[in-house]
Amino acid sequence: MSEEEIAAELQTQGVTAVKRFTKKKDDGTIMKLNTYLFTFALSSIPKSLKAGYFNIGVEVYVPNPLRCFKCQQFGHGAKFCRNNTACSRCGGAHEGSECTNTIKCANCNGEHLASSKSCPRYERETKIQKIKHTNNISYFEAKTLVPAPNISTVKYSAAVSSPALVAKPTMSSTSCQTSISWVDEQRILDDHTQFAPSLPNISTSASQTDIISPEPSVE
Ligand SMILES: [Zn+2]
Ligand SMILES: [Zn+2]
Ligand SMILES: [Zn+2]
Repeated sequence: MSEEEIAAELQTQGVTAVKRFTKKKDDGTIMKLNTYLFTFALSSIPKSLKAGYFNIGVEVYVPNPLRCFKCQQFGHGAKFCRNNTACSRCGGAHEGSECTNTIKCANCNGEHLASSKSCPRYERETKIQKIKHTNNISYFEAKTLVPAPNISTVKYSAAVSSPALVAKPTMSSTSCQTSISWVDEQRILDDHTQFAPSLPNISTSASQTDIISPEPSVE
């Protein structure tokens, strides 16, 4: 039976649309699965549907978190993205397809790709999706119910253990993203210093803004 025929058959049970799940096999061919996505015009979903002599079990469908391929953030697609491009590999302001930089997550600064399922942001989005679909509420409502992972604390303690940062007490008031980019800049400046020994000792005298500002020329 086609999706339309099944939908017509189950219309009396509140079904308004039917979509059969498919899976792309390794050889590129599409395989039809025995799982269907039903849309109901009901305030709550039934536990089962009657189809001929059969009872079909119904479960709430929780889709995977939607991650934008352009900015890597969750909750929207690239088509509607108004954010700046972020690399899926290093988090930098470029597309990720040809990037060979050190892996750094654009969403949490962790040592994984932005697409990683072990990212604390991804784990949070998975919880949001579950709450959204189980309770039939909006994404934004569900988001307020799931506390954000405390990424900045984790990253700050990691950054402090780096010797390059020990002499920079003002870092305590900055966000994790800033402190991490400062580490990177510092490394670049240190490398640079080796080739130009006459440079002033930037690490102790420059303000934070001075350290951050060379970024565009580094890119
Ligand atoms: Zn985006
Ligand atoms: Zn990159
Ligand atoms: Zn991450």
